[in-house]
Amino acid sequence: MSEVRVRIAPSPSGNLHIGTARTALFNYLFAKKNNGKFILRIEDTDAERTSQEYIDNIFDSLKALGLNWDEGPDVGGPYGPYTQSERFDIYPKYVQKLLDSGFAYECFCTPEELEQEKEEATKAKKPYVYSKKCENLTEEEKAKLRAEGRKPAIRFNIAKAQKAFHDSSILKFNDMVKGELHMDTNLLGDFVIQKSNGTPTYNFAVVIDDALMKISHVIRGEDHISNTYKQILIFEALGFEVPQFGHLGMILAPDRSKLSKRHGATAVSDFVKEGYLTEALINFVALLGWSPSDGEEIKSVDEIAKDFRIHEISSSNSIFEYDKLKWMNGHYIKMLPIEKLKEMLKPYLTKYNLNELTDAQYTKMVEITREPLTLLSDITDAVPYFFGKDVEIEPETQTGTLDTETAQNVLKDFVEKAKDWDWTEENLHEKLADFRAEWKEKGGIKPKVTMWAIRAAVTGRTCGADMVGILDILGKDTSLYRANKAIKAAV
Ligand code: GLU
Repeated sequence: MSEVRVRIAPSPSGNLHIGTARTALFNYLFAKKNNGKFILRIEDTDAERTSQEYIDNIFDSLKALGLNWDEGPDVGGPYGPYTQSERFDIYPKYVQKLLDSGFAYECFCTPEELEQEKEEATKAKKPYVYSKKCENLTEEEKAKLRAEGRKPAIRFNIAKAQKAFHDSSILKFNDMVKGELHMDTNLLGDFVIQKSNGTPTYNFAVVIDDALMKISHVIRGEDHISNTYKQILIFEALGFEVPQFGHLGMILAPDRSKLSKRHGATAVSDFVKEGYLTEALINFVALLGWSPSDGEEIKSVDEIAKDFRIHEISSSNSIFEYDKLKWMNGHYIKMLPIEKLKEMLKPYLTKYNLNELTDAQYTKMVEITREPLTLLSDITDAVPYFFGKDVEIEPETQTGTLDTETAQNVLKDFVEKAKDWDWTEENLHEKLADFRAEWKEKGGIKPKVTMWAIRAAVTGRTCGADMVGILDILGKDTSLYRANKAIKAAV
């Protein structure tokens, strides 16, 4: 078999969508599995919707996900340039070839004329197909239209290509994911391959680029299936080898509608901003349509690549379960080495003065707060009580805990005794254990109730990180200051 060459071809009209990231991943996996090449091509023929910011976002997101391309912008390669707007001088030659061979023709219809055709089709409740009005214009007619100042678009002649290469109007192809697919090409309509302003359309540019870049397999979303029929005919009309196609099911939101911003983040960079790890994201999207043979879902991209078989990808749609992604993210956070986690959490701690803590204290704080994190951003609300002298008391903690007689008695006893304690972690551990035991014996107070009182006074909350760790990080002064304040503040 000749070399496997696959590509991801995003249009930079937005930040890299998580669905495109999955398509990129499956292409990447297919390339890795087959010792092939993974190519990035930027499809920016639609200049109005393109921006450099989106292009940069696509590069950064793919790199952050570890989907490094073998050929493409930044990297180069033998069949570049890999950005369509830099390839505009390549396409006209192939348009001309199709005009010369009769597989394309000039169309002088104005937007108004086309609009009218569409309206008539709507009225007749028929799907719109271009009337082919311009297919057989004579040279004189064309010259006349040109003299009127009309500039022609170029349309592909579907029926002609279909007849030249197939027995009937039915076009079939064997999809790597979905099996045999077919369509009656009479329904496709002669589509525009070059606009009247001279720019190629997506369906045309993509074929020329896939052919010249020697793409062997085109793996993309099933929303492109109707384009595939058009593209196959162009490949054939130009005498290019037709690549193999594989169309992936769509990603749907939990409510089974199209995944959109109202469901949550959709761009990779937004997930990252919210505190998802790229390792978790890539692992999660791999499971949208693919399952590991050993049932073990937590896997690195390299492990997935070894196990990956494109024919086993599910042909149906996948549901994007944000909850599952969160669970997986929590797992990846737990696996992060402490130094890396400390660095990764910093962007979410900017509202605090980290200089209040020594490096050892910061390490400790992260160690005792990391367990319940499902998002890196969860750290923001998990740690306010480690900073500043005073602490904000949650209203329900004030009324439900601190204002109780038991809590007040416990706290009074606590400040009295703790002022003489040696403030080391081991000692605090021991002293607090004794303290709880005493209160149980003398007052019949459950150990957890004793601890609630101290926790509420020192952290303003009734749950959180390990209490000994908190007291150790805060130090004796701040801990006792807060406990005293809670006594005075009680109603
Ligand atoms: N630029 C197209 C898109 O973003 C690429 C489709 C294809 O892979 O051919 O949908």
